[in-house]
Amino acid sequence: MNSVANKVAVVGSGISGAVCASILARNGVSVTIFESARGPGGRMSQRREVTEDGRELVFDHGAPYFTVSKAEVWDLVREWESRGLVAEWDENFGAFDCISHKFLGIQQEGLTKNYVGVPGMNAICRALCQETGVESKFGVGVGRLEWLEDENLWSLMGLDGKNLGQFQGVVASDKNIVSPRFTNVTGRAPPLDMNLVPGMAVKLQDIPVIPCFALMIAFAEPLFAIPTKGFRVVNSKVLSWACCDSSKPGRSATCERWVLHSTVEYANGIIAQTGLLKPSEATLKKVAEELFHELQCTGLDISQPFFKRAHRWGSAFPATSIAREEKCLWEKNKRLAICGDFCVSPNIEGAIVSGIAAASKLSSCW
Ligand SMILES: Cc1cc2nc3c(=O)[nH]c(=O)nc-3n(C[C@H](O)[C@H](O)[C@H](O)COP(=O)(O)OP(=O)(O)OC[C@H]3O[C@@H](n4cnc5c(N)ncnc54)[C@H](O)[C@@H]3O)c2cc1C
Repeated sequence: MNSVANKVAVVGSGISGAVCASILARNGVSVTIFESARGPGGRMSQRREVTEDGRELVFDHGAPYFTVSKAEVWDLVREWESRGLVAEWDENFGAFDCISHKFLGIQQEGLTKNYVGVPGMNAICRALCQETGVESKFGVGVGRLEWLEDENLWSLMGLDGKNLGQFQGVVASDKNIVSPRFTNVTGRAPPLDMNLVPGMAVKLQDIPVIPCFALMIAFAEPLFAIPTKGFRVVNSKVLSWACCDSSKPGRSATCERWVLHSTVEYANGIIAQTGLLKPSEATLKKVAEELFHELQCTGLDISQPFFKRAHRWGSAFPATSIAREEKCLWEKNKRLAICGDFCVSPNIEGAIVSGIAAASKLSSCW
């Protein structure tokens, strides 16, 4: 028992899991983060690409920025800002109408502050995953969470069947941990047996999700025809948003990099044709051509990019929030918390609020 005293496993290094792990560690709990991806961040990841001629490019291909409204999130963001992990992205955004082929207006300065991680959106999660008391294991997917009734402990197993250790508490920061969607995407049973936590399972089983394709493009010359660094695309069936990634603070400005987001309608159409499994290179190529073509159809003077690559986010946003009041799901007897944006609101702030709530539940156990 001593070897697992106050040990908590956090599944996922997205912002909800990373915030939760960091708070737990500051409260004296020993935390291990397991992340199936190669690096931290989840939907706040930064993507590194290498062009055919060996140039390295980075893109925030998930969330481009975030806003803050809640006091408890302000506290964290101010601390991250003082550590140089976030900065305000002080640019005006606008909207472009694909019918009139005109910009509808540029947002007034000072309405809302838009924040980004520095030098990439993943910087916050990366730093939190390295804090004292937090051990992070990347490239380790959790395949099984078993409750050992006699020992009153959780036993974790990797997707490859390896024993990942025993823990007094678990925080899972992905809804798929107990959902049939995990089976649809991976062909395996979900890590958590829903009979162990029937109350939670009912809430988690059928959370509808909104997909999105992101297109990363790089240009040798700046796109002077675009008068803003980020804009919503109105009246397009294909594009919903575009922003100049290289205009964010702390980014390399050796070339101009943009990220475009598809509409939900477009992403659903592609997924209906190709299914939920990982998209093929051919599909991603076709999507890249179609999203770029739509940008060209704006009539704006857009040169040919020297790099173009699409990425699919099968679950970019949850379409519903399942714990707006409680902010996370909590099974006290088994010291199991489930957190993430799907609990509070479909954005970074919602995920942070949920991670704080999960840490508070676990911390109250000791
Ligand atoms: C294209 C796009 C645009 C967005 N735009 C915005 C925006 O403008 N503003 C905003 O605030 N938000 C935006 N968001 C939403 C925002 O990114 C999310 O709300 C937030 O990052 C969610 O954080 P999370 O911790 O809840 O989940 P995630 O970031 O999804 O983290 C979950 C983590 O768990 C890991 N994981 C899952 N299962 C396992 C397992 N079995 N074992 C180990 N690890 C596992 C995953 O790999 C992932 O890293 C956007 C998202 C996308 C995709």
